[in-house]
Amino acid sequence: MKNNIIQYLSYASIILWIWTALLFIYFHPNYGNQQKRVQKPESTWSLEKQVNQQDTNGPEQKPKPYLKDERSDEAEHKEQKPFIKFPLNYSDLELIHGLLKYGFNIIISRSLGKERDVPDTRNKMCLKQHYPKYLPTASVVICFHNEEFNALFRTMSSVMNLTPQYILEEIILVDDMSEFDDLKEKLDYHLEVFRGKIKLIRNKKREGLIRSRLIGASHASGDVLVFLDSHSEVNRVWLEPLLFAISKNPKMVVCPVIDVIDNMTLEYTPSPVVRGTFNWKLQFMWDNIFSYEMEGPEGPTAPVRSPAMAGGIFAIDRHYFYEIGQYDKGMNLWGGENLELSLRIWMCGGQLFIIPCSRVGHISKEHFQNNFTTMKSLAYNNLRVVHVWLDEYKEQFFLQRPDLKSMKYGNISERVQLRKRLGCKSFQWYLDTVFLELEATVNTL
Ligand code: UDP
Ligand code: MN
Repeated sequence: MKNNIIQYLSYASIILWIWTALLFIYFHPNYGNQQKRVQKPESTWSLEKQVNQQDTNGPEQKPKPYLKDERSDEAEHKEQKPFIKFPLNYSDLELIHGLLKYGFNIIISRSLGKERDVPDTRNKMCLKQHYPKYLPTASVVICFHNEEFNALFRTMSSVMNLTPQYILEEIILVDDMSEFDDLKEKLDYHLEVFRGKIKLIRNKKREGLIRSRLIGASHASGDVLVFLDSHSEVNRVWLEPLLFAISKNPKMVVCPVIDVIDNMTLEYTPSPVVRGTFNWKLQFMWDNIFSYEMEGPEGPTAPVRSPAMAGGIFAIDRHYFYEIGQYDKGMNLWGGENLELSLRIWMCGGQLFIIPCSRVGHISKEHFQNNFTTMKSLAYNNLRVVHVWLDEYKEQFFLQRPDLKSMKYGNISERVQLRKRLGCKSFQWYLDTVFLELEATVNTL
């Protein structure tokens, strides 16, 4: 009897979920498009972004926005024909099912197949850039967990098609214990076309994205590690600007501009050049860049200083990655690692820049599944960031998140040791030098 009730309840909750999703999509058919109109691009960490939209505690003093259109050719983009040639049918159960399972429109993803062309979204000035013949080589690390087959494949095809072979050491695919059938033998079979360039590693248990990236990195032999999400598509000449920046300064960690691939239409659209920041809740946010950043001789192609990185898409010198302590292995499934690495880079002698001439598209997924587990791991990971890196400013975080004050965050002694060993600067230094706009809301010092 009790089992029956539980069974009925779980059926009822699944049906309720599907109806909520159906109603949501029915009443917000342009949801993705509306978001695109906002000046800022989708965050790689879309879950956090959804929270950010309700957040009014962003930095009060906004930097002066860069007003000129920095994109390659606005008119050219506007004239592009609509990407989707058939109307979307939002009552399609397959669509809803796919959306709940993968976080984006799998019908369109399947129709696009394993590779496609995306529009060149670079500023025109980027086309005049020349890069040296000898650049460091790159190992591209792509971790995936239950990814949609075609989106995963497009990630790899775009890398293979748009990267000169002599700088692409390898692609390292890490399967973080996916359960879906098409990611097993079928994937092995289709990967044969990339033979010689691809290494596939399958985790024996679910490790989460942080440890999976570390596993991927441990198999890499290229000079530079490039991390990509498993639903990305790189753009033309995406890798050379990243490698060139690192070749000049191996302590420079670089991110491409993250273009938006709409989760409903899968249309690839350019993002403005922005920098990564965060608030006292440690929520990642995009922010306008200072106009002076683009007023130098390099104009809109100049690297942009960024207080933080969005997450999954960046390049780092492989030896430097180990020198500064990789990732915090004590972190769980998802989230927070981007801010931890960003703070560590700046505070321990490195630099973090966004390179406008390098562009990579990313599907801004809707996370319907595992929200609770994900949010819990994000809170846990953020606490580790707070206790290792924020010094006396940790009170600013707890003012915003008093609920997390007594939550456990594991053993951080190794990371505290690392900070000492690297002789890292204080969080005060970071605020004074790198992220001046993050102001303490209440004086707790
Ligand atoms: N991922 C993983 N293991 C996990 C969670 C995520 O390998 O436990 C992968 C995921 O497939 C993706 C990347 O890590 O390639 C980043 O996660 P996700 O795209 O879900 O984050 P988002 O960009 O949507 O915020
Ligand atoms: Mn992603």
